[in-house]
Amino acid sequence: QPITTDMGTLTRQIDRYANEKKLEIETLKVREEYRKEFIGNVSHELKTPLFTVQGYIETLLGGAMDDKKLREKYLSRASKGVERLSYIIKDLDMITKLEVGDLSLNKQRFDIIELVKNVFDLFEMKAGKKKITLDFDRDYTKPIYVFADKERIQQVLTNLIVNSIKYGKEKGTTEVNIENLIKNKIIVRVTDNGEGISKDNIPRLFERFFRIDKSGSRKEGGSGLGLAIVKHIIEAHDEKLYVESEIGVGSEFSFTLEKAK
Ligand code: ADP
Repeated sequence: QPITTDMGTLTRQIDRYANEKKLEIETLKVREEYRKEFIGNVSHELKTPLFTVQGYIETLLGGAMDDKKLREKYLSRASKGVERLSYIIKDLDMITKLEVGDLSLNKQRFDIIELVKNVFDLFEMKAGKKKITLDFDRDYTKPIYVFADKERIQQVLTNLIVNSIKYGKEKGTTEVNIENLIKNKIIVRVTDNGEGISKDNIPRLFERFFRIDKSGSRKEGGSGLGLAIVKHIIEAHDEKLYVESEIGVGSEFSFTLEKAK
């Protein structure tokens, strides 16, 4: 190997090397920041339900245990808290897999109408508690076949429908509507007439852990991961996701899917 004696070339080589190293360090720094922020968010989200459960257990140990009614009340609340914790952990697991691109899609042909009906059935009780009606906007007599990852699309529908119940108003309606878009695409819309979302908050909705403080969301106790998961799944399918909303009027979340033959 001839040694370069040309100082110009040498300086350029050193500069290039230094730049590469700088970039590497910057990437590592960004990753480290991201990791710290993620862990910070996770601990924050887990703390609230954990403290609640701890509170109920302490109350029980402090004497409430002896009273049958109180015992049942606090045990069932503690159990709800643990259930919430497990939902958050499930969401965390999902978002981590989605963010590191560790989740391969298992696409198949299925009837989207039937899937929506299944999700409606699962959340009928939850909706009933707020007297919310879950409905199709019209009678779909024929199946509509799509080609996608059924389990993941079920998750998307679940997250959107659960949100429409959580942030919907008492005696409101959640409506699903499915339409042909262009020749090989359909669009699925989930519409509610709930509290709505302000223009300022719309761009941040799909960030993980983002929740609107003023909305019922704190009380409702989710993880702030639902819409981030939705966005990842739709993007992994190379499909589009839209949101339209107006404060006091309601929201509409929609996504496209590929039609199957
Ligand atoms: P969360 O677990 O808090 O529901 P999401 O990621 O699903 O997390 O939603 C993020 C935030 O967006 C919610 O906390 C809520 O403030 C707002 N949001 C989501 N869906 C709706 C909706 N249908 N109507 C009004 N606000 C909504």
